[in-house]
Amino acid sequence: MLTDSYNRKITDLRISLTDRCNFRCFYCLPNGEPPLARKETILTFEEIARISRVFVSLGIEKIRLTGGEPLIRRDVPQLVELLSALKPDLSDIALTTNGFDLPRHAAALKAAGLDRVTISLDSLDPVNFEDITGVDALGKVLDAIAAAREFGFDPVKVNAVVIRGRNDHEIVDLARFARDNAVSMRFIEFMPLDSGDEWDRDLVVPGREIRKKIDGEFPLKLVDQNRGSETSWKYRFADGSPGEIGIIAPVTEMFCGQCSRIRLTADGQIRTCLFSTTEHDLRSVVRSGASDAEIAEFIRSVTLKKEPRHYINDTAFKAASRTMSFIGG
Ligand code: SAM
Ligand code: SF4
Repeated sequence: MLTDSYNRKITDLRISLTDRCNFRCFYCLPNGEPPLARKETILTFEEIARISRVFVSLGIEKIRLTGGEPLIRRDVPQLVELLSALKPDLSDIALTTNGFDLPRHAAALKAAGLDRVTISLDSLDPVNFEDITGVDALGKVLDAIAAAREFGFDPVKVNAVVIRGRNDHEIVDLARFARDNAVSMRFIEFMPLDSGDEWDRDLVVPGREIRKKIDGEFPLKLVDQNRGSETSWKYRFADGSPGEIGIIAPVTEMFCGQCSRIRLTADGQIRTCLFSTTEHDLRSVVRSGASDAEIAEFIRSVTLKKEPRHYINDTAFKAASRTMSFIGG
């Protein structure tokens, strides 16, 4: 079992497949900078599969592929197939995507063994969507959500980062979208991980406010008082309508005490927290010819260095060493 020095069981591995993206989301990678990692530093699928096998042997149960935009990498279904070989010890393979390329890959991803997808959707207004993401692609993303449902990914989760003055007026519309489309709509507080350095406390819409706004229009029922290591509080609609609401409030309702996550960047660095200021160079270990046992030992020792919590709300907060598209959300 993989545990950190605060006795948290680490069961979720998030792997960034690339730090590149075809979107320019205001809250993530607005200018497409800083410079992108070079090709030879990026882990190959074979390396990712090997590292994942070692992680799973240590107790990782869930793997999420993310980025940057993971579907920018060619042949992602091939990687999913390699990871599927780790089932049933690995119980869940998920993908977070902006959806742009999902429809053309959905069938192959499903056939390869992908269990779940999460698609980002910050606005239902085409003009506002483009304003936030930098691309005129609302229709494509809506198609992606439909495709995900059609191919039987269950549940289909949809992520919206809520930003004061940009899309907080759409909260109720996005909740209605969850009901109408039977998806799990997750509202996420804006975190200080954007490459544009625009984050400001005033731009954060607290989870409590989001919940209240939705509850005023569509009364909500908390699914479970005890959310375990989940990042979101989950709600159902009290009138029994389909769909679900998730509220992810890392800034105003910190959940670090239950964290079960560890991250691998596209260039093979282990990050023990989204907000880590240091990384651990697993790529060099793997490429130096280390055995599986040596890789396992490295992972174990790094996990013990996992931070107790984030410090966003402390006056001495120091920004993470890399921004969201590099880390993998
Ligand atoms: N490109 C894919 C996508 O957009 O879904 C996957 C990578 S993206 C970094 C993963 C998730 O992180 C997305 O749902 C995105 O909305 C969220 N995210 C990015 N920057 C964020 C920030 N500064 N605060 C909160 N969430 C953020
Ligand atoms: Fe790209 Fe996803 Fe970041 Fe948007 S949130 S810029 S789609 S990586």
